[in-house]
Amino acid sequence: MRVAKIIVDVPTMQTNRPFDYGIPDALVDKVQPGMRVVVNFGQGKRLVMGMVVALTDSTDFDGELKPIQDVLDEQPVLSKELLALSKWLADDSFAFWITCLQTMLPNALKTETKQLKNGAGTQVVDKGRVQTVDYLHTLLPAARYTDLLQEVRKNAVKQIALLTRLGELAAQAEVLPVLQLEKELGIPRSIITAAAAKGWVELEQREEYRHPYAELDNMPRTTPLTLTPQQQDAFDAVSDALNSQQNDTFLLEGVTGSGKTEVYLQLMAQTLADGRDALMLVPEIGLTPQMVARVKGRFGANVAVLHSGLSDGERYDEWRRIARGEAHVVIGARSAAFAPLQNLGLLIMDEEHEASYKQDDAPRYNARDVLRWRGAYNHAPVLLGSATPSLESRARAQKNVYKLLLMPERANHRALPPSEIVDMREAEVDEHSGDLSTELISALTECLQRGEQAVLLLNRRGFSSFVMCRECGYVAKCPNCDISLTLHMDSHSLRCHYCGHEEAIPRICPSCQSKKIRYYGTGTEKVEQTLNAVLPQARVLRMDVDTTRRKGAHGRILKQFGDGQADILLGTQMIAKGLDFPNVTLVGVINADTALGLPDFRASERTFQLLTQVSGRAGRAEKPGRVLIQTYNPDHYAIQLAQHHDYERFFALEMHMRHEGNYPPYFFTFKLTVSHEEEDKAAKAVYRLADMLTAHLSDQAIILGPTRGAIARVKRRYYYQIVIKYKKEPALQATLEQMLETTQISSRSGYQIAFDREPLSFI
Ligand code: ADP
Ligand code: ZN
Ligand code: ZN
Repeated sequence: MRVAKIIVDVPTMQTNRPFDYGIPDALVDKVQPGMRVVVNFGQGKRLVMGMVVALTDSTDFDGELKPIQDVLDEQPVLSKELLALSKWLADDSFAFWITCLQTMLPNALKTETKQLKNGAGTQVVDKGRVQTVDYLHTLLPAARYTDLLQEVRKNAVKQIALLTRLGELAAQAEVLPVLQLEKELGIPRSIITAAAAKGWVELEQREEYRHPYAELDNMPRTTPLTLTPQQQDAFDAVSDALNSQQNDTFLLEGVTGSGKTEVYLQLMAQTLADGRDALMLVPEIGLTPQMVARVKGRFGANVAVLHSGLSDGERYDEWRRIARGEAHVVIGARSAAFAPLQNLGLLIMDEEHEASYKQDDAPRYNARDVLRWRGAYNHAPVLLGSATPSLESRARAQKNVYKLLLMPERANHRALPPSEIVDMREAEVDEHSGDLSTELISALTECLQRGEQAVLLLNRRGFSSFVMCRECGYVAKCPNCDISLTLHMDSHSLRCHYCGHEEAIPRICPSCQSKKIRYYGTGTEKVEQTLNAVLPQARVLRMDVDTTRRKGAHGRILKQFGDGQADILLGTQMIAKGLDFPNVTLVGVINADTALGLPDFRASERTFQLLTQVSGRAGRAEKPGRVLIQTYNPDHYAIQLAQHHDYERFFALEMHMRHEGNYPPYFFTFKLTVSHEEEDKAAKAVYRLADMLTAHLSDQAIILGPTRGAIARVKRRYYYQIVIKYKKEPALQATLEQMLETTQISSRSGYQIAFDREPLSFI
């Protein structure tokens, strides 16, 4: 008997392995690895989705195998490559295999088990649907429609109109969407349905893609630029690897504006010419319409786009275009690393240092590792690009694990904009100008007078606005989490950024009943108000989580700014990346150092990266640019070196700090988090885990903690964590696996445990 090995959609430790099912004769020719099936799992009649991961002819199970009930897919939805990748990912990230399989599929292919009426059991159905459109075919020769015209009543105007048009369609052997015909003739669907019933026409359902960027596919194509010598060198190195199908990883370190994107585009073109596929990842916030337009501009409809801003339907359709080989270039955010391209020849990751490539929930993977896995599988080069590479990647290049490609100059040979530091400890700031120094205000004024544009960055990390009672110091806190509530002026409310709790701003202090409630902090809204007051002539566009919540809002704001409908673009981190507006000549950073104080060894690295990125937005075209950085730490090396765009010095210095502190890239890190609704239970559990680690790991491993989470309570749960730092720890994998198995038992008693390899956040 044919046997299928199946991972069932029941994410628990006990079920985290393939189960054997028999394949009934009727399904033998259908079932293939990578297909989703319906199986009966456990006691009772519960039906669940399962993924076939292998087929065999024998089983170790001594008992009667249950049969597969049904097959959900006509074709495998996961290729052999992606199945293998899912297994690796599960092992590497300690996530359930089914969770990894689900991560690779678009939401529309997730299933739900539905209860049937009258206790008739359950049914497993897809969450999403293929969109179809009805088309109309004529069934009769043209002359027959003319004959029929004689037979209908003279006042049946709509029928007459229909028959006349059908005659034309039949003569030209044309097929039309029904909807189009309805509009054209102004007739209701019922007339057409009736015509179908009479055998005049036939209706056919055709699958139709939801096309998120349709308007870009028909734009005139751009042609490749002549590469500068530094671009040519970078191109040649990767091109050689492409030709010899060599799985090398390249680190392209190129300053902002050095033309990395043009190098990517030309390498993609070569990949396509060789008949292979290209995948390019960009950070979620870097996936600006500008970037999509540049890639679509070169390759048109051959490009599929995948990111979280699309609807489930759009994503599903883009995913199917890729799986069917109708799109050979994919540009997307983190999860596009799993795009079902069949024949990968080149994998690119732009802004490789970005933290958004790391997923915070299970499976906790870094897309960079996924690309490297797929590169090895497909014998394809991987190209990581950044103006400010992560310390980890740059250190690998130092050791020749990655090949380093340098582009130290801008493509148009313009100098990088000079940056000036405004020492806020001494800056003149008057009452009305809030957090804007006199220098910044006059620079803005001059910029506006020249008819040019400015970008203003408010560093949101490590900072939020809140309300406090001036009488007793009361600060409004979230009832579910151990954190103060953030003030939102647009909705006049206080909100928790962790659990979403929302409440009205109090007028009277709940603690002392005084009326002296005051608003604190520099939210983007507050800066916007200040700008309106001190520069009333300036048109300001604000871009932050609040103004970009609605679908497409991000793109609309950028388009408005690009079209010159505003003078100042004020925003958080999301404005720092990838923008290329020729009329922007001034970049101002309102608070460069709020992130420096965070309890995170990457605080300097993040600050340096952000300042370098945002400075790169100024003076990209003909007009020279200027950058003003306001800071309370003008002597900090991250700020000073960002001022001089000196990545290499920063790398050397920061490596030294990391070495002193035994941090990555000298050490690997691993974070364990335990949570429970009762604080003492979480605490006891985490100490038990710490004991296990001490018992099993070598004395070279450094175990930090257990400590309470930096935000100890989130969504009514208490968090404790342990961080392990190690160089070589062969026992780690087995110890952690054993831990998962023993702690799974207690997950029934309300524990949650999370493992995070190379965490990017220690909060
Ligand atoms: P990066 O991605 O490195 O920040 P971009 O690819 O955005 O840089 O390039 C910056 C600018 O330089 C863009 O306007 C781009 O069109 C232009 N550019 C890039 N390469 C060339 C080239 N070889 N010749 C002329 N202009 C170029
Ligand atoms: Zn909360
Ligand atoms: Zn009070």
